[in-house]
Amino acid sequence: MNLAYCNSTDSSPACGINIGCSTKVPYGYMRHPKTKAFMVDPDASRIVARIYALRSELYNLTAIADILNSEGIPSPSKLKYLRGELNYSRAKTTLWSRKTVRDILSDQVYIGNRVHGRDHSTSSKTTMNPETGIVVSDAHPPIIEQSLFDQVQRINEQETMKIAHISEHGRNNKTKLLGKLICADCGKPLVSFARKSAKRKNPNSVFYECSDYHNFKRCSTHYIGDDMLTEALIDAIAATSNAVLIANRYGRDIGPQKKKLSALEKTSSVLAQKHTQLSLQLRDLYEQMSNGKITCAYRDEVSTAVKKERDALEARQKRLESQMNELKQQIQAILFFADAFKAYQRRPVLTQELANVMFDKIEVHTDSSIVIRFRLAGYQYTYIPPKP
Ligand SMILES: [Zn+2]
Repeated sequence: MNLAYCNSTDSSPACGINIGCSTKVPYGYMRHPKTKAFMVDPDASRIVARIYALRSELYNLTAIADILNSEGIPSPSKLKYLRGELNYSRAKTTLWSRKTVRDILSDQVYIGNRVHGRDHSTSSKTTMNPETGIVVSDAHPPIIEQSLFDQVQRINEQETMKIAHISEHGRNNKTKLLGKLICADCGKPLVSFARKSAKRKNPNSVFYECSDYHNFKRCSTHYIGDDMLTEALIDAIAATSNAVLIANRYGRDIGPQKKKLSALEKTSSVLAQKHTQLSLQLRDLYEQMSNGKITCAYRDEVSTAVKKERDALEARQKRLESQMNELKQQIQAILFFADAFKAYQRRPVLTQELANVMFDKIEVHTDSSIVIRFRLAGYQYTYIPPKP
């Protein structure tokens, strides 16, 4: 252990454990007035826990910063300013930023570790490299549990991967198929990478493989080339489009929904008639009362009952209405899908729009077969690669 990091002017016994006492206090902690060790700041530590919780629910960094700002929670700099620990006026208006949130979400200080040999300054040029620093565990009380911290690190990694991916392969299929292309065995997304290919026509081909294999050497490769993938998708569209168009011609796809809809429409018109009857009844009661045929008390009693019945009826009508709307939307979606197929029936070029309209999930199997699930429920196509 390298004790050279220990601040020699600090003679407190705690310094033996909390080596590097001279570094600044991270957000979420305070310095013990006597021992100078880090102790949990009750207010700020709750915010740290909240940030980790939000991240575990897959909120992105900007969204988390926005939430904190909208709730008026002071940013780390502003908190220091408010506590009189910082006195440059800019800190007074400093808001939460992506970077502040990201730094908190990757700092092992919150699981009780102290990393020495890296600069704790917030300068953006400083890069954190826990591998080259010296990590001291149990250096102070943790704010975040190890399991939550690990979960959040995985989420951070996946996001970094996604961003790297988009910038690296912006013009390839991968961005078009982002989120749809998955490993059939572990369910994790495939990652793409460029590799020099033997084909002269296409010297820098793009390939995909299971991210769990690519990053952690778990699962198995599920390696597939962009060329083959494109061919599989185009084949799938061509084959499925015929099936969808034929089914629609004979009303088989929208048949059941249409039947249901017309039954609901019948019920709806019965309810509407009943509603009119009840409204007329209320009007009659009012007339009879003004003509002196019935007493005010009798009218009130009956009309309360009638109104109650009408309210219940209206609630039923509302439910029916939303069921009918849902069915209409389903029918619309199927017809839209059929139209899209009609438009792309001849061997199409794989565009972003086409990928969005057509595909839900594309599962790549170990034997390079590909199961393509279309967005229209029930339609899927299995591509078996030609034997080499
Ligand atoms: Zn896998």
